[in-house]
Amino acid sequence: MKPAIFALLFLSAALAAAAVVYTAARAGQPGQDALRTIMPTAKPAATGKDGPVYSRSAFDITPLAPDRIAELARKLTPEEAKIILNQGTEPAFCGNLLDNHKEGAYICRLCSLPLFSSDHKFNSGTGWPSFFQPFDRDHIHYIKDNSHGMQRIEIECTRCGAHLGHVFDDGPEPTGLRYCLNSASLEFVEKAADGPMPWPDAARPIATTSAYFGGGCFWGVEDRFQQIPGVVNAVSGYMGGKLDNPSYEDVCRHTTGHAEVVRVDYDPARISYNELLKWFFKIHDPTQLNRQGPDVGDNYRSAIFAADDTQLREANAYIAELQQSDKFKARKIVTQVQSVKEAGRFWEAEGYHQDYHERHGGSCALPPE
Ligand SMILES: [Zn+2]
Repeated sequence: MKPAIFALLFLSAALAAAAVVYTAARAGQPGQDALRTIMPTAKPAATGKDGPVYSRSAFDITPLAPDRIAELARKLTPEEAKIILNQGTEPAFCGNLLDNHKEGAYICRLCSLPLFSSDHKFNSGTGWPSFFQPFDRDHIHYIKDNSHGMQRIEIECTRCGAHLGHVFDDGPEPTGLRYCLNSASLEFVEKAADGPMPWPDAARPIATTSAYFGGGCFWGVEDRFQQIPGVVNAVSGYMGGKLDNPSYEDVCRHTTGHAEVVRVDYDPARISYNELLKWFFKIHDPTQLNRQGPDVGDNYRSAIFAADDTQLREANAYIAELQQSDKFKARKIVTQVQSVKEAGRFWEAEGYHQDYHERHGGSCALPPE
C-alpha cells in the first residue's frame, strides 16, 4: 500500500510542481501558491480554555487577555504604539533592524514571543526587515487586509495581536514568501556564543520530555500523537538502525535496520509517559511482526525506544500488564523495547514526511479513550 501511496504522492508532487511553474509563468509570482496555503491555518491555535496552548517549538501562545496587553503597551513610545496597536507602517529604510546581520531571534516588541530568526532574514531591497519564514508557524496570525485600496495579508503576533507588517508572495526560495516587518514591532535577542539562547523571562519555552514510538507508517502515528492534549510536537523520523542520517530511500531498502519512528515531545506536567503508552497501544496493532496492516517490512515494526531507565521500566511493565488483559491473552505482543542508548539517536525524516496528513488530508480522529 505504501509504495502505491508513494507513487501517488510522487505523481501529485509532479503535477503540483507543474501547476506552480504554470502559475508562475502566468502570473510571474512564484510565492502565490505558498501564500494561498498559509491562509487556511490563519487562526490562532486555540482559546486556551483547556489550559495553556503551546506551539510546536514549546512556547506558550495562549492569547493574552486585553488588560494584560494594555499593561504591556504602557512601555511603548507613541510612535511604536501607532505601529503596533494601530496598524501603522514605519518609513522605509528607517528601522533599526533593517541592517542587523547578527545571529539571533527577533521577538515581539510587546509580549516577547519569538517571531523570526536571523537564519531566515534576507535583503529584499524594500527598506524593511524581511524574512522568508517565521520562527514557528503558530507564532504568526494572518488577516486579510483590504485597506488603502489594496488586497494584502497582514501579519500579527499570535499571542498578543501586535501588528507586525504584511506577507507577500515575492520572496526567495524555499518558501517564495516575503514577511515584511516594521523594526518597531520587533526586539532582537542575540544568540549566545555558546550555551542556550538567552530568552527573556516572557519568552522561554517550556521544558518538554521526548518519547519515541514506532507503530507502522509514521504519517498516521505522527498525526494521532499530535492530537493528544499535552503533546507539544510530534515529528516523523528513523531510529534503531546502523546508518547515520538515513534517507527514506535508505530505510525502504530494509538494509539499515531503521524503523519509522515518531518523536513525541510532551509536557510532563499535562500528560505522563504511561498515558502516552496507553495511546500508543490503542493506535496500532502490537501483535503484527515486522508489518502494520498493508505496510510490510521491518521498518514498519512495532517499537518503543526508551529515553531513560524509567521509560524502559514503564514500557516493559505496561506491556507485561497488557499481555495479561483479555484483549491480548491469545495474541502475543511483539513490540520491540530498546533503550535509546542502545538503539542510537533519532534522525528527523525529510520535510515532505512531516505533517503529512495535515497537508494532504486523510487525518484520523483519535479512538475513544
Ligand atoms: Zn506579541
